[in-house]
Amino acid sequence: MKKIYLDNAATTQVRQEVINEMIGVLQNDFGNPSSTHSFGRSAKTILETSRKSVAKVMGCNAQEIIFTANATEATNWILKSAVNDLKVERIITSKVEHHATLYTVKNLQKQFGIEVDYVNILPSGTIDITHLVTLLAKSGKNLVTLMHVNNEIGAVLDIEKVGRICHQHDALFHCDTVQSVGKKEFNLHELPIDFAVASAHKFHGPKGAGFAYVKKGIVLQPFLYGGEQEKGLRAGTEAVHQVAGMAKALELSFEHLVEEQQTISDLKNYCEEQLKLNFPEIKVNGSDTFYNILNVLLPFSEEKTAMILFNLDMKGIAVSRGSACQSGSVKPSHVLSEILAEEDLKKPSLRISFSHYNTKEDIDALIDGLKGI
Ligand code: PLP
Repeated sequence: MKKIYLDNAATTQVRQEVINEMIGVLQNDFGNPSSTHSFGRSAKTILETSRKSVAKVMGCNAQEIIFTANATEATNWILKSAVNDLKVERIITSKVEHHATLYTVKNLQKQFGIEVDYVNILPSGTIDITHLVTLLAKSGKNLVTLMHVNNEIGAVLDIEKVGRICHQHDALFHCDTVQSVGKKEFNLHELPIDFAVASAHKFHGPKGAGFAYVKKGIVLQPFLYGGEQEKGLRAGTEAVHQVAGMAKALELSFEHLVEEQQTISDLKNYCEEQLKLNFPEIKVNGSDTFYNILNVLLPFSEEKTAMILFNLDMKGIAVSRGSACQSGSVKPSHVLSEILAEEDLKKPSLRISFSHYNTKEDIDALIDGLKGI
C-alpha cells in the first residue's frame, strides 16, 4: 500500500541532502564544540557556519540567532525571560495560538500574576486589529505574542502591520513563525519583530533543532545554566549534527522556494476544487489562508467524526483532524472553537497540509478515501 502524507503542518519529511549532511557530521565531526583542540574547533566551525547560514536566510545577524531544541523551548524561554528580566507586566495574545504560547502565558499569569488579554479573532481566523489597538492603549510594559501562520487553519497575520502597531505603543512583539519559516521570504531586520521562533522539522529538517531570534539590544537571561554554550543563554553541549541539518534544510528551502511554493499552491487549489466538486456542501475554515494548509468542514454526520481519520489511516492516508479526540470523546479544537458556530463544531473538520513531495495522485486518493466513508 502506498502511504500518503498530507500532514505537513505537523511535521515534514527530512530532505535527503539534510540526512547526508547530518550523517557527514556524525561520522566526521564528533568533537565537542567547546573543546579547544582540532576536533572541537571543527565542530565549533560547523556550529558557527550554520548560525551564519540561518541568519543570512532570515535576514538578521548571526549573534541574534540562538539555537534551541525546538520552538516550544524558544517560546518558553523568551516569554519567561521577558516577564522576569524585562519586567513585562502584561501579555496580549490570542486564543488561537499554539499551546506552546498559550500554556506558557497561562503559567506566567499564575506564577507571577501578570495581566493577560486576548485579542478578538475574526471569522476569517485572523486577529481584530482594531481590538489590538484598543488593548495596547493601556499603559504599562506590554508584550504582544501572536503567531504568523496558524497551524490549524493557516490564517495569516500581517506581521509588518501588527509589529508596527506594537512598536508605536512601546510594546515588545514576539512572533511564533514556526509555520512560515522555510516557506516564505524573511527579512527580520526590516520587520518590526523583537523575537521569533522556529522548529527545523517543519521545514524538512530534523526534529530536536530549532532557533530563537532575539533582536540585537534586547538582553534576556539564561534559560539553562551551565557552560558557555549559546553565549551562556542555553548551556549544554550543542547537537552539532542537528544544527547542521537545520541550517542545510533552511538553505535548501530557500533555494527551491519559488518552485516549491508554486507546486504546493497548485496542489492546494486542486485539492480544494476536487473537494468542492465531490462534496458540494464542504466549507473551508478560515479565509486567505497560507498556501500549504487547507482546513475544511466536511458535510458528514457527527457520528462519522471519530471514524474519518481512522478510515483514512487504514488506507495509508495521513491527515489531521480539526478537533482533538480525547479518551473517546471529541473535544473541539481551541482554534475552530473561536471561528465556528456550535453546530459546525460538532461536525468533522479536516486539516490537509501539503509539501512539495505531494502529488495530484495523493489528493485523488484522499478524495476516494473520503468518498468511501
Ligand atoms: N507553534 C506552532 C505554530 C506550531 O505549529 C508548533 C508545532 O506544531 C509549535 C509552535 C511547536 O513546535 P515544536 O513542537 O517543534 O516545539
